[in-house]
Amino acid sequence: MKKYSSLTEIQGKLADKQLTLQELLAYYFDQIEKQKHLNAFNEVFFNSARNQAETIQAKLNNGSAGKLAGMVIGIKDNICYQDHIVTASSKMLENFVSPYSSTVVKRLLAEDAIIIGRLNCDEFAMGGSNETSYFGTVKNAADEERVAGGSSGGSAVAVQADMCLAALGTDTGGSVRQPAAFCGSIGFKPTYGRISRYGVIAYASSFDQVGTLTSSVSDAALLLEVLAGADENDSTVSSIPVPSYTKSALATSSTKKRLAVLKETITSEALDPETKDAILNAIEKFKADGHEVVEVSFDLLDYLVPTYYILTTAEASSNLSRYDGVHYGYRDTQAQSLNQLYKSSRAEGFGEEVKRRIMLGTFVLSAGYYDAYYQKAQKVRRLIREKAVALLQDCDVLLSPVAPTPAFKIGENVQDPLVMYMADIYTVLASLAGIPAVALPLGNNKEGLPLSIQLMAKHFDEETLLSLSHSFLEKA
Ligand code: GLN
Repeated sequence: MKKYSSLTEIQGKLADKQLTLQELLAYYFDQIEKQKHLNAFNEVFFNSARNQAETIQAKLNNGSAGKLAGMVIGIKDNICYQDHIVTASSKMLENFVSPYSSTVVKRLLAEDAIIIGRLNCDEFAMGGSNETSYFGTVKNAADEERVAGGSSGGSAVAVQADMCLAALGTDTGGSVRQPAAFCGSIGFKPTYGRISRYGVIAYASSFDQVGTLTSSVSDAALLLEVLAGADENDSTVSSIPVPSYTKSALATSSTKKRLAVLKETITSEALDPETKDAILNAIEKFKADGHEVVEVSFDLLDYLVPTYYILTTAEASSNLSRYDGVHYGYRDTQAQSLNQLYKSSRAEGFGEEVKRRIMLGTFVLSAGYYDAYYQKAQKVRRLIREKAVALLQDCDVLLSPVAPTPAFKIGENVQDPLVMYMADIYTVLASLAGIPAVALPLGNNKEGLPLSIQLMAKHFDEETLLSLSHSFLEKA
């Protein structure tokens, strides 16, 4: 069987009876088995996926299947699926079975997607290389000595290495877009509040957003259409009606867009030269397609990473306080007092990076430092958001790199948190501003490593991103 690049293709084969869901699932199981060493899956849901395949095949036979019938999808291991383990790749939740399903999982199941397993990620989604996972690093299939990116590294490699058709990730500061960029797939992060976070293990609640990793824009559009929209269990989800993204994305729109390149992101010395060339070529292609491309200045670039790390660590320190050895997961059974139980359960249950962030976040929220750090960062976030909104009043889309370099070597940056944090410089803008963004593949560099470009749009203007991405990749 060859690699399927979209659900449309699979549904065509299913309709023509050239393929059954059981055969399709067996193919993906086989792919997973053959590529186990990449460490993309924390668990394969053999039983529930097989049962689903049987039920949905029967629905296909009698014409009652949902619109995701034929989609075999992996979910990042921080998304709850009832009666399945969910760990956030942490020792803290190693054996934790979710008593309920997240809204995104319910919506996938309601449309007959098959959930094939849970995917490795950085611990509690904190990281940019999938090296902080308690279950080990994920390897990039383009070069196994290199990282997959993070934090949704397993999601990216599962799609890259054809172990499932699509994957869900979460993106707090780039965790869908950057691994997609490192692994050559399409990473889509919607507007904050477009998709429910109910049942998604929280990292930084005012940033967290579910996103998709796919090989086609049409699958990204379809998944968004299914997942987006109001949810009574998450009051931060917008009630703005959900457009038919599949129609708008696939329409070959003749409307020409105005794109603005964030100048400082391209002229930076830190940007890898081959990435830069690929982005400049992409810009020429947008121009050749009749779009207008201008340059704009983003003078707050230096504030993005500090603001992001002050606010997200603050939110994380609060969110992760629930893992106390009593309510959830890991417990030190030797502890002699309640205080000792809290201390040792957390000391033993969390990894280094998570502890670092809890300490940073606790510090910026503590009396005496709250005004100087947390409150100030809140104000800077407002400025960043206003600047992004202002720029997007004069254009439809902002362009920038996704990451300063292609996938780096495993172990190369892990000892230096600052180097790691600085690599998030281009993705955190959309997260701080809450705007939608997509990472699009631009082919490979000389060493065969994927390159990519980022497009960002106005709040709730996912349609522009999807239609532009579709026409751009179609003409690749
Ligand atoms: N690399 C960023 C961080 O470590 C982004 C993570 C994410 O989006 N979950 O916070």
